[in-house]
Amino acid sequence: MNISESSIESMRRLLSEPRKIVIVSHTNPDGDAIGSSLALAEILAENGHAPTCIVPNRFPYYLDWIPDSDKVIIHRNDTEQRAERAIAEAEVIICADMNMLSRVETLGEALAANTTARRVLIDHHLNPEDGFDISFSHPESSSTAFVVYTLAKQLFGRQVLSRTVATQLYVGMMTDTGNFAFSNLTPDLFRAVAELSETGIDIPQIYNNVYNSFTEGRARLFGYVINRKMKMLLKGTVAYMSLTEEEMRRFWFQQGDSEGFVNYPLSIKKMKMSAMFSQQHDFIRVSLRSRGNVDVDTFARRYFNGGGHRNAAGGKSFVSMEETIRHYIDAVNEYHAEGGV
Ligand code: 5GP
Ligand code: MN
Repeated sequence: MNISESSIESMRRLLSEPRKIVIVSHTNPDGDAIGSSLALAEILAENGHAPTCIVPNRFPYYLDWIPDSDKVIIHRNDTEQRAERAIAEAEVIICADMNMLSRVETLGEALAANTTARRVLIDHHLNPEDGFDISFSHPESSSTAFVVYTLAKQLFGRQVLSRTVATQLYVGMMTDTGNFAFSNLTPDLFRAVAELSETGIDIPQIYNNVYNSFTEGRARLFGYVINRKMKMLLKGTVAYMSLTEEEMRRFWFQQGDSEGFVNYPLSIKKMKMSAMFSQQHDFIRVSLRSRGNVDVDTFARRYFNGGGHRNAAGGKSFVSMEETIRHYIDAVNEYHAEGGV
């Protein structure tokens, strides 16, 4: 990964004295959001700064073992206004693993209110927003954790890779690559993993903590969704699934329980694209996955007010489940007619 020398230099200058730093990441934080935020916080604290990690809402329970994850402020549960205070006092605001401020929802207002902090972007999504003082935007990277790893080494040297930092970074790299199975797997990434493993991190344990720590409800919900809710379009090359609040309640749903379901249809050989619609309180969350050249980032931006990466993107729908599904079917047909899928 080529990080611009001038951005590194700007970052060095910015961090040349102790700073109050807020690190924010996106709504529905995933392993990369939490792992890269916590690693950044640990590295910055080790170097004399005062970091605070904030996310808009809760992260899934299978990430709560990550070192220091209990220190992340969950804005939606934050009755004492700790997030607002930290943001108001921040001299530096780092947006990690997100490309636009709309991805932090209500937290955006607090961020906009602080007009003096320097703004830094550290991310790997396509189409990053303008308006950052320093931007480390690397859509070619498989995870933000890999960007953090590369940047941290250049800024502070290899000694910042403690076992704790290595664990946090490994979670981000592992989860955003589907345990090193998706695209953008470069030799540099595997060299990074080798270096992380030299710190003594327990890779099988990390894998188990994330992927083999689900509830019984999730296993049963998964069976139900695949058996009863997976529908096919375009001769079985496009799939979609949906989950209503009633269905979630039936399976004792906990936040995070349906993460990853959207990938499963892609285990079918001829599948090109998959969608999952899950009902939230005031909108329907849309998750999209694809194989190869099928571009769901464009699809999400065009049809679902969202975005992401070429093979993994998401968005929102503000109409009913039935209308959302109808809209998806129309969109798939239109995209198909254009050769998009
Ligand atoms: P997931 O399906 O796991 O929620 O998200 C897949 C990818 O799409 C992630 O990189 C995520 O950041 C992005 N994404 C998910 N939802 C949205 C959204 O509403 N807006 C945008 N811009 N990106 C999203
Ligand atoms: Mn990511």
